[in-house]
Amino acid sequence: MSTRLDKIRALLPQKGIDALLISMPENRRYMSGFTGSAGYLFITDKSAILGTDFRYTEQAAGQSPHFEVVRISGNWSWLADQIKDTGATRLGFESHHMTVQSYHALSDALGQQLEDTKPALVATSGIAEQLRVYKDAEELAALQNAVDVADQAMESVCPTITVGMTEKEVAWRLEVAMRERGAEGPSFDTIVAAGPNGAMPHHHPSDRPIQAGEPIVIDMGAKVDGYCSDITRTVCVGEQDEMFRRIYDIVLGSQLTAINIVKPGMTGGECDELSRTVIAEAGYGDNFGHSLGHGYGLAVHEYPRVGPKAEDILEEGMVFTVEPGIYLSGWGGVRIEDDVVLEESGARVLSRSKK
Ligand code: ZN
Ligand code: ZN
Repeated sequence: MSTRLDKIRALLPQKGIDALLISMPENRRYMSGFTGSAGYLFITDKSAILGTDFRYTEQAAGQSPHFEVVRISGNWSWLADQIKDTGATRLGFESHHMTVQSYHALSDALGQQLEDTKPALVATSGIAEQLRVYKDAEELAALQNAVDVADQAMESVCPTITVGMTEKEVAWRLEVAMRERGAEGPSFDTIVAAGPNGAMPHHHPSDRPIQAGEPIVIDMGAKVDGYCSDITRTVCVGEQDEMFRRIYDIVLGSQLTAINIVKPGMTGGECDELSRTVIAEAGYGDNFGHSLGHGYGLAVHEYPRVGPKAEDILEEGMVFTVEPGIYLSGWGGVRIEDDVVLEESGARVLSRSKK
């Protein structure tokens, strides 16, 4: 955590601020180690303060040795005190997380308590996220655990799916299986989309009974020690039809092309293109309407961006999903998603469920 603190401090001048207020839970946890559900970090060149309420002060002191823990109440007076102590003049806040209501409350409270010495409030976004994009060995181990739990749940539940079972029932079985294997919970709402429902990439599981031969898109992930996995398999109960095989093979070919060719130094857009070209050449370019993938970590969607025209450079130590799909209205969809880490020689796949 001390190196993370050094790194974020180095970014402050570049962002035109001398203090940063972190409110986003994943960033708070990443920077401090504190896993509680409420609190703020206040970081300047010299100070590192973790403000949290009385429910968490003891836990925070144990988890965040590099931060001074202060107990806060609702009126931002703890922050005004820190600004007085540090003389901060330009306070960055996380504009991609703080609500407009909180922003106004913060601005008013600092105005009342600091008057002329109220710092300028500077909207920032993505500062801590810039650090989170590179995963260290400890994070990779946590991610592998999260992926393993999702894989095991997928492998244990898929063979138990029968005709007539509802999408909701399958989703529940998957969530139970993840919990039984140590997940804190699913990393997002499990998607089970059978038959025509599979044409909607983010369909919510329904009471529709699964029918023989139709494609079933299962997109799920586990959260383990705060880290998220995200995998998708498309299966079918009974005989697959000709259509299923054809579409499945195109999607799999598209996915393997990107996984086998992606290298450090490519952009997210170039990686997306590798996969998209295969689908387009098979005649289904218009039926793959979402990005190829996304980073994952403490949040299920993070940087780098891996989609059409994404300029993010993919580098060693980054992790992202590779999840092409083809969606055909009235028939359904096929999506295959694996979680990879980028190494010097290329992508190493963390997920191992059968495809
Ligand atoms: Zn997914
Ligand atoms: Zn995903």
